[in-house]
Amino acid sequence: MQAPDGPAGGAPATCYNTRMTNDDRPPDCPGDCQPPKLPLRLPPDLLRLSFEKLRPSAQGLAAWQGGLRAKLAELLALDLAALAAWPPAWQVLQRREMDGYSLSLISFQSLEGLTVPAYLLLPRTPGPWPGVLIAHGHDLGARSAAGVIESNDGQEGLGMRLARGGLAVLAPDLLSFGQRQVGPLPDPVGRRAHEVFANFAMEVGRPIAGLHLMDLMQAQAILAAWPGVDAGRLGVAGLSQGGRLACLLAALETGLRACLVASGLTSSLLVDRGNQHLHDAVPGLLAWADYPDLAGLVAPRALMLSWGLREPFPYCVETRDLVTHNYLRPIWELAGAPENLELDLHPRGHCYNPAAALDFFARHLMAGRTAAME
Ligand SMILES: [Zn+2]
Repeated sequence: MQAPDGPAGGAPATCYNTRMTNDDRPPDCPGDCQPPKLPLRLPPDLLRLSFEKLRPSAQGLAAWQGGLRAKLAELLALDLAALAAWPPAWQVLQRREMDGYSLSLISFQSLEGLTVPAYLLLPRTPGPWPGVLIAHGHDLGARSAAGVIESNDGQEGLGMRLARGGLAVLAPDLLSFGQRQVGPLPDPVGRRAHEVFANFAMEVGRPIAGLHLMDLMQAQAILAAWPGVDAGRLGVAGLSQGGRLACLLAALETGLRACLVASGLTSSLLVDRGNQHLHDAVPGLLAWADYPDLAGLVAPRALMLSWGLREPFPYCVETRDLVTHNYLRPIWELAGAPENLELDLHPRGHCYNPAAALDFFARHLMAGRTAAME
């Protein structure tokens, strides 16, 4: 496989480094990057629906996105027909007034027949309000993402901050996390209960990432139906694992206008080499595309990639430096909206940058209210 614009006899087309100019290369880049050596025989025709492989024209962009979107739904075993037929329904379990917003604990029944707790935060300002779904990160779940508890997991109580800024927020606990932790499950090699569960779910053909997306899609339907929320101005945010899910949700749900991915975009084939948990994986994805291609399904809508300059995870740093500009910018340019691909570099680590997040959603969901982005 040769790069169409690569050096003669040169680097593989999927090496992101080859798309950098000499000035852009990191100091330790050898300039002759090779695919990772895995103890696997990879199929000969990887990434066959990727942007890199197909290089659609501006006229063909929407068709490329539609084809890859359908493939993604298939790989994740999403039951889109059941979702479409689901009338949004919920219960309010608790409600209290907070400083600048109201906080409710609600629940809904998942299409798996499970109870899903979620935090709803509504501003004190007069509506209609734009809305933001939050896909929580690993471990602490929606309580931390919503700001119900203080934590040091990088989620910075984002939900609370957005609600004080005038946005309605819904943050569900996703299957096997937060208040929906499974287990304890016995495991002789010490895996955490949610990893044992993810393994089992994969074996019955239900990848956890797909189940998480189903939870989020139901939450999106509830947020859209909530009295006072403007269903035409919805977005999604996520950090780390939640960032990956936010990106996948915005890739699939074209009604979401703005997506914030904080330390969450990776590239499995050549950058992070599989550095993700089993519950994050999209089975069979690399035959068709890599995660940056899925981010490309958000174009021309607004996507902000937020990265800390003190990011501790090497695969996040590599993706930040190699993929963002070189892979995604051409897609947004082709879509005619390069200004809607935003990069936020902040001085901290693996965490949200709340001020930039609020600014991003305010500009894309609140500005002009009715006129903007129609
Ligand atoms: Zn995990």
